[in-house]
Amino acid sequence: MLTKAMPFYECREGIYEIDEFECTEIFVITGKERALVLDTGTGIGDLKGLIEERITDLPYDVLLTHNHVDHMGGAAWFPKVYMHPEDLAHEDPCFPPTLEMRKFFARVIREGSGKYYDYTEEDIRPWPKEPEKLPVEDGHVFHLGGRDVTIFHCPGHTAGELVALDEMTGTLLCGDAFNGNFLLDSSHLKEDRREIAYQCLDAIRRIQSMEGAYRSAFNFHHDYRGFGSPLSPDLIGNQITNLEMILSGKADFRNIPDVLNPGTDKWVAEYRNSSITLVDGDIRTIAGLWQ
Ligand SMILES: [Zn+2]
Repeated sequence: MLTKAMPFYECREGIYEIDEFECTEIFVITGKERALVLDTGTGIGDLKGLIEERITDLPYDVLLTHNHVDHMGGAAWFPKVYMHPEDLAHEDPCFPPTLEMRKFFARVIREGSGKYYDYTEEDIRPWPKEPEKLPVEDGHVFHLGGRDVTIFHCPGHTAGELVALDEMTGTLLCGDAFNGNFLLDSSHLKEDRREIAYQCLDAIRRIQSMEGAYRSAFNFHHDYRGFGSPLSPDLIGNQITNLEMILSGKADFRNIPDVLNPGTDKWVAEYRNSSITLVDGDIRTIAGLWQ
């Protein structure tokens, strides 16, 4: 079912971007001996069938960049998934995602876009079982045969957010760590919110400092870039500047409708092509100006 409805595109040599009806992007990196699947989408239709019937017949591992419903909603159809220990530790209430959470997210995207998508809610099926969850640490290398993919911890969007660097093509696959519409998420952490913002700034500066190692970056939603096309090269630097400006109280704040919570609005900090919001509150609190 639905193995043919999700478009996919070989965006770099041996790297496939799968579009899950604009809910989330899933990436598959293929080497000579193994493949690596990054994220599992919201869990609409048959992602496993699509990967195995149309993209690769190699054995593969599955890594979840973070524990949000739109990235791990399809995890149950794979025997085991790798996650960072921080997102394993803070798994409630996200893991396992409920059927209602998955359907709600898909509905928000569909209704927000006003487009026709070739699936029904019947294609969002209950989880048959929970996958085995395995920890993966910063610096872990997946050897795919002729190409190595290194995983880096990049907290901010979640405590355990991960990004992947494919050395062969110089491609950074960055989950939700970089995004034109970046969500800083402190909802499952107890620490001071400014502290979390500083942790995020350190993490994204570290990834930027590796820029000699990558030539292009793809985030896992293509609403701020074209399908199959990388992020604008200045986005990472602008997201860093925007976060620096928030922390120094100099950011440009604006109030906009919140598409994930229809009927409500939220504050956003904007700098050029970067906007940053706080998942569970008002981003202005990070600036220390509003408590
Ligand atoms: Zn996310």
